[in-house]
Amino acid sequence: MPFAQRTRFCGELRLADAGQTVSLNGWVHRVRDLGGLLFIDMRDRTGIVQLLLDPGADLPELRSETCLSVTGLVRERSEATKNPKMATGEVDVKVTSVEVLGQARTLPFPVSDEDVMETVNEELRVKHRYLDLRRPSMYRRLAIRSSIVRRIRAYLDERGFLEVETPVITRSTPEGARDYLVAYRLEPGKWYALPQSPQQYKQLLMVAGIERYYQIAKCFRDESQRADRQPEFTQLDLEMSFVTQEDVLNLAEGLTIEVINSTIAEFGLDKEPVSWFPRVIYSDAVDRYGSDKPDLRFGLELFDLSGALKATEFGVFRAALGSGGRVRGVRYPGGAHLSRREVGELEEFCKGWGAKGMATLAFEPAGAGEHAQTTAAGLGVRGSIAKFLTPPEIEAVVAESKAEVGDLLCLIADSYEAGNAVLFRLRLEIGQRCGLRDPRKLAFCWVLDFPLLERDAESGGWSPTHHPFTSPKDEDLPLLETDPGRVRADCYDMVCNGSELASGSIRIHRTEIQARVFTLLGIDEKTQRERFGHMLDAFGYGAPPHGGLAPGIDRLAMLLSDTENIREVIAFPKMGNGYDPMMDAPSPIDEGQWKELGLRLAP
Ligand code: ASP
Repeated sequence: MPFAQRTRFCGELRLADAGQTVSLNGWVHRVRDLGGLLFIDMRDRTGIVQLLLDPGADLPELRSETCLSVTGLVRERSEATKNPKMATGEVDVKVTSVEVLGQARTLPFPVSDEDVMETVNEELRVKHRYLDLRRPSMYRRLAIRSSIVRRIRAYLDERGFLEVETPVITRSTPEGARDYLVAYRLEPGKWYALPQSPQQYKQLLMVAGIERYYQIAKCFRDESQRADRQPEFTQLDLEMSFVTQEDVLNLAEGLTIEVINSTIAEFGLDKEPVSWFPRVIYSDAVDRYGSDKPDLRFGLELFDLSGALKATEFGVFRAALGSGGRVRGVRYPGGAHLSRREVGELEEFCKGWGAKGMATLAFEPAGAGEHAQTTAAGLGVRGSIAKFLTPPEIEAVVAESKAEVGDLLCLIADSYEAGNAVLFRLRLEIGQRCGLRDPRKLAFCWVLDFPLLERDAESGGWSPTHHPFTSPKDEDLPLLETDPGRVRADCYDMVCNGSELASGSIRIHRTEIQARVFTLLGIDEKTQRERFGHMLDAFGYGAPPHGGLAPGIDRLAMLLSDTENIREVIAFPKMGNGYDPMMDAPSPIDEGQWKELGLRLAP
């Protein structure tokens, strides 16, 4: 017997529907048994409506999350029982027949209670993801994600892009992580690698004359898991031929603005619409924010006192400056009011990120407490180093830091790099405490002109800042062999609120330059041929200049659904250790499979 199929959705019933007989399909959201009356909130993907059942009737067992079909009469609720908080709150459905389509067992957690669900162990939620996803809040996140992807496709389809799929079992395409490997059964000892990105394929598509390519691509990277990482994640992978950096930035910016603003409008998100992105040079970003991923929702730029204090007698600063380090800092508006203990906690925070210590200067109205000095403008100065600086030095510090009344200056004396590692986090911490990291704002920017190469901490050799296919700037080509550290790349990151949303570059499209870069990276000629011979060959057949980028879809979905946990925007995510508790993956393989693949576990 077929079941009674829905004639209407739960979430759409309104007063105007009163008097109609409807069939609904969905789930028992909540049951309230008031003795004489049995109320059920019934849910489908569109929303919730209240059912009224006659407990005297011969009813099946109706536990929470049971799947059912009901038929009944839509009625206006009495004034006293109308619920203005529910979209369907003016009506209920007096049920005339009910059929259980799928009975639910005792639940591992209370699906219908969003507040309690916030506190449920995440691994338990992921283990029963099919139940967790029944929550309207989870459905909404997936809907936001789906809308993002749909809008991306529409935008690019309109502009002559071709969506092309590229292989998932292939050979290594490095992006700086470990590969996931797949054993090749026909020749034991040979392996496929899962792509860390479709980078090489998309470049080969440009050689192939596709000109405008995109793909909603799965990427696989075996790296240590952080809250915002997954072993497999999704990028909008995009590449264009005959373009300059400016063309790629404009296209990507237009796309991002359109996708974000229309998604904000569709879902009524509590976010300010975005407009054109400011641009920051990499070295400026690091100077001003301590990071190449600046959070531009607020100012509080770092300042450098190395010049102002170059002749200081204060031992700690003198030692740092004498060994090539810097004295830099960040302003904490209102921080002059912090207690000694609170300042101590802030210093501990800095030490947690590698600082040796944190020096402070607090600026208050003169007369408000005891001060070591008073500035020319009449500010009283306190703080851990107030008595060690001369009055001219204090004036120079005020000029450089733009300190105002009520400010606490937090100062770090260390190497440039070590200082950045602390100061960028300290700036974010202060921004957070001052309420400047407004979740309603999406502060995008482009970071440009990255160095092509960085020193590999382990080997001491050069490694690519992005990946080995990034083009050096034409004007820096002569430095490639003479001063590689100073070569800048034609590459760009799209950053929003302090995290990287996309990364891309103009690519090398000449065999000779690609070979020079590989050589710089310590890849000898034989290995170049073995690993990247196809790229070097392809560039010899009329390769067009090309470039692109790859925005993270998970990241975009996180931004728009206000979560910092990437798992919340992925239907079936892995836990922190790469484990999928629902599928129980990874899992052992059976003996036959070991044999078939010619593998043995090393004793
Ligand atoms: N393949 C790069 C990445 O995954 C993006 C790009 O350069 O297009 O980060």
